[in-house]
Amino acid sequence: MEYKHFSHQHNLTLYRVEPGQQFQCNGCHLPCQKDSIFACWMCSFFLHEHCGNANRYVKHPAHAPHPLVLMVAPTYCSATFLCNCCGRPGTALSYCCPLCEIDLHVPCAYLPLKVSHVNHPHELFLRLGSQITEAPTQYCKICSNEVSCKYWRYVCDKEECDFRVHTFCGTTEVNPSQYVDDEPDSEVQAPASDSAPTAEDVLAEMFKIQMQMQMAQQLNQMFAPPKN
Ligand SMILES: [Zn+2]
Ligand SMILES: [Zn+2]
Ligand SMILES: [Zn+2]
Ligand SMILES: [Zn+2]
Ligand SMILES: [Zn+2]
Ligand SMILES: [Zn+2]
Repeated sequence: MEYKHFSHQHNLTLYRVEPGQQFQCNGCHLPCQKDSIFACWMCSFFLHEHCGNANRYVKHPAHAPHPLVLMVAPTYCSATFLCNCCGRPGTALSYCCPLCEIDLHVPCAYLPLKVSHVNHPHELFLRLGSQITEAPTQYCKICSNEVSCKYWRYVCDKEECDFRVHTFCGTTEVNPSQYVDDEPDSEVQAPASDSAPTAEDVLAEMFKIQMQMQMAQQLNQMFAPPKN
């Protein structure tokens, strides 16, 4: 069975990774050590199953006002993005809101909302990043490095525990089904249906809104009464 992914020109086959084998995912640059991957053997192009199956856009609770659109490569001049979840750079697939410059690695966009960790008796909940810069420095209970409140982390709800860990220290689990729309628009399995808007439609619409906002701003400035 062959699959087509929008980020690669050849067909891909699903391959079950054998113990001891390791590939690197071209979508998120993390290793693929278990489960199945999509592979183009000719190009040594590999995708985690969850990266290959990632929806072209998601409605993410971390960014409710706009859908996040799956991009093949960052649109920034630097050709890298800084993930709003884990704070690490990325150069390949990302979920992006071009209006607000939100960028997420695919696995970061699909982190489970709560996890349990062997090092802690209570469940840990995903906390999103905030812009508060006054908070005291906090440290990850797994790796002991700083946990910036700008980025996402897993936190125990009970204040007396004072337990928090980096997302990448707390879990390697991803859950691609959690933000799926009622009509899944999975690029790998089926060609886009004619009625559902494609990612390109959504992007085009968003750029249109952005242009309109800029024009409105410029008009406002042109016609604003002179300041004294
Ligand atoms: Zn991946
Ligand atoms: Zn190829
Ligand atoms: Zn990330
Ligand atoms: Zn946005
Ligand atoms: Zn850590
Ligand atoms: Zn606790």
